[in-house]
Amino acid sequence: VLDEIASQPLTFSKTGFLRFPGRKSLLWSLAVPTCMVVALVVIAVGAFMPAAVVEAALDDAVMRSVHTAEQMRTLRSFYSEHVVAAAVRSGVRASATYKTEPSSIPVPTTFVLDAAEAFSTDSIKVSLVSPYPWPTRAGRVLDRFETDAWTHLAGTPDGRFVRRERVGGREVLRVAIGDRMDASCVACHNSNALSPKRDWKVGDVRGLIEVVTSIDAVTRGAEQLSWKLVVSIVLAGSLLLVLLLLIGMRLIRPLRDLTAVIHLIAGGHDQETLPHLDRGDELGTVARALQSLQEQTKERARAEAQITHMARHDGLTGLPNRVLFHQEMQRALTRVHRDEPFAVLCLDLDRFKSVNDTLGHPVGDALLVEVAQRLKTCIREGDMVARLGGDEFALLQHGTRDPTDATSMAERIIGALSTPCLVSGHTILIGTSVGIAFAPGDESDADDLLKAADMALYRAKSDGGGTFRLFEPEMDARMQARRLLEIDLGLALPNNEFQVYYQPIVSLSDYRVTGFEALLRWNHPTQGLVPPSDFIPIAEEIGAISSIGAWVLGTACADAARWPDEIKVAVNLSPMQFKSRMLVADVVSALEASGLPAERLEIEITETVMLQDTATTLETLNQLRSLGVRIAMDDFGTGYSSLSYLRRFPFNKIKIDQCFIRDMSEEHESMAVLRAITGLGANLGMVTTAEGVETLEQLCRLRAEGCTEVQGYFFSKPKPVEEVANMLRSIARQMGSLYDAPGKAA
Ligand code: C2E
Ligand code: MG
Ligand code: MG
Repeated sequence: VLDEIASQPLTFSKTGFLRFPGRKSLLWSLAVPTCMVVALVVIAVGAFMPAAVVEAALDDAVMRSVHTAEQMRTLRSFYSEHVVAAAVRSGVRASATYKTEPSSIPVPTTFVLDAAEAFSTDSIKVSLVSPYPWPTRAGRVLDRFETDAWTHLAGTPDGRFVRRERVGGREVLRVAIGDRMDASCVACHNSNALSPKRDWKVGDVRGLIEVVTSIDAVTRGAEQLSWKLVVSIVLAGSLLLVLLLLIGMRLIRPLRDLTAVIHLIAGGHDQETLPHLDRGDELGTVARALQSLQEQTKERARAEAQITHMARHDGLTGLPNRVLFHQEMQRALTRVHRDEPFAVLCLDLDRFKSVNDTLGHPVGDALLVEVAQRLKTCIREGDMVARLGGDEFALLQHGTRDPTDATSMAERIIGALSTPCLVSGHTILIGTSVGIAFAPGDESDADDLLKAADMALYRAKSDGGGTFRLFEPEMDARMQARRLLEIDLGLALPNNEFQVYYQPIVSLSDYRVTGFEALLRWNHPTQGLVPPSDFIPIAEEIGAISSIGAWVLGTACADAARWPDEIKVAVNLSPMQFKSRMLVADVVSALEASGLPAERLEIEITETVMLQDTATTLETLNQLRSLGVRIAMDDFGTGYSSLSYLRRFPFNKIKIDQCFIRDMSEEHESMAVLRAITGLGANLGMVTTAEGVETLEQLCRLRAEGCTEVQGYFFSKPKPVEEVANMLRSIARQMGSLYDAPGKAA
């Protein structure tokens, strides 16, 4: 929603009203209906009010006229009953011409007429009219209204007859009611000799009492009143409208302010404080809600940014991680066709594992941070250095038009990492190997490109490390071959392709064979004999080493059980077997199945075993020791801190690595190490076995240095089990001849 708002240009009209394109202001939705309602009311009032007011005024005038007429009728009736009747009874005459007759009183009709005349004003006239031909009013003619009223009232004696007329240029209201005969009237009329009609009955309509009122003033007044009302309503409506607009403006302004702030926020501006926060009304609530929303959004954005950063960066070094590096490669690949070549350089640290293992993880971590710093100094702006995991790093170098661009970068990196690092008080000499792949050229897909650089790295490492290699397509073929080997290795055990070879170990005190070392061989169906150095690491990687190791143990024990009693068998164990926790059980079952006494089994471990989870390892070793199994430290002297392990576990034997024996004649240092180890072994009561003895000279020197046992091609190469007896015989013969020529042996 914020994006939507941000994408809409905010405009204000001249009046300051807020307008979104295509949307109406809230103000208009208030003003337009109000205007319409006010206009409708004004039209309605203008159209109907004057007529209604006049009508009401006329109704009022009618009522007043009827009232006057009724009063006149009451007066006549009263006069007839109580005046005329009494007077007649006392002998006074009632006459229509009473004015000329001194002792008479007026007859009721004359009385009423004269009284009405006396009451009449300019605006109201009362009269009594009748078509009845009383001799004194003979010839009297009723006008049109009176005729119609007479006809109407003859049918409805209690009704009234009303009409508006223009008389003499004036507007008048004429109202007539019936004048009815009462008992005294009937008695008088029916007995009077002058009366032309003598069959009157009580209630008969004898005439009309008519009231004529001038209504010019009434209608004028009503019209004026109605127009005043119209004007008042128009004014009130306009006032209401103005009031509403003012209220609307008051509401719109803060809304506009808040919308402007939302607009800014959506546009990425940071608003510290929002307007109208202190208002106590609904707008204040909206402002506060908005600020809270802004804070939450900021908080969420911060958290999201952190999570995104964490998801794309390495927590230890802060460098981009594999995910970000992969994205960067993909981005770079999309630009390759625009003549923007680049190189991917993969590197991993030589000897890092042993640093990590010997000096501990905190030192390893600090070293990685230092390496990351150094790598950053090697790259140009726009290039990327990432940590892919462990001690693996990768670089993306843009604009590599020439392979030398990348190779000189690789040289820079190797140079930067070959200077010793001072980490947590330790001076550590670390090196690196680099593999390089190019785009375009080597691969067209990010994964494949990284894989290509990785294969080049693999080659650089297997060529001795501390160097770089460019990817070549045949490396891919090698990797494929390795992958095929992995598949084949998984099937080797069930297919019975393994074979154990034995190499004799000879005592230097009496030149007798003390035992044989079991060395595993794989008869690959198509590749022939594969050396253990080629397949053991793969077996460790794919997790096949435990079952293979158990098979070797079983086979070696079973073979050794058929040898002379004094001859032992030595079996190499992989560090992975120590991790599986099945080791002790495997050893026990191999011994039980073969019947070989535990003392005749020797297991050889390398220092890598001692590096991992020492407490568990020591426990396993002690369990094996308590079975009676002998334990030898293999390849002694090649690791970082072999010596420290001798203190931690009482090994039965130290096997001096063949590199010391090989270099013994030329290198003074090797000789010194060798002497130290044999001395140490003698002091600790451990057997020292020299590996890789190939010459008589080596044999003699080792004997002179106090080494207790030797093993090597001088006596025999490792051979199948069927050759064990032959080996024993030939060594005995060989040694016999040595004894025969003691001067030579010395
Ligand atoms: P290792 O335990 O140090 O075995 C000695 C290696 O030195 C053997 O190589 C052996 O053939 C070789 N060797 C012996 N005498 C001489 C000599 O005079 N000159 C030279 N140049 N080499 C000599 P191999 O059989 O290729 O085994 C290599 C490594 O593979 C072994 O080193 C051992 O660590 C491992 N290995 C062999 N069999 C097994 C096994 O069953 N399990 C495990 N986990 N590792 C094994
Ligand atoms: Mg060995
Ligand atoms: Mg060895």
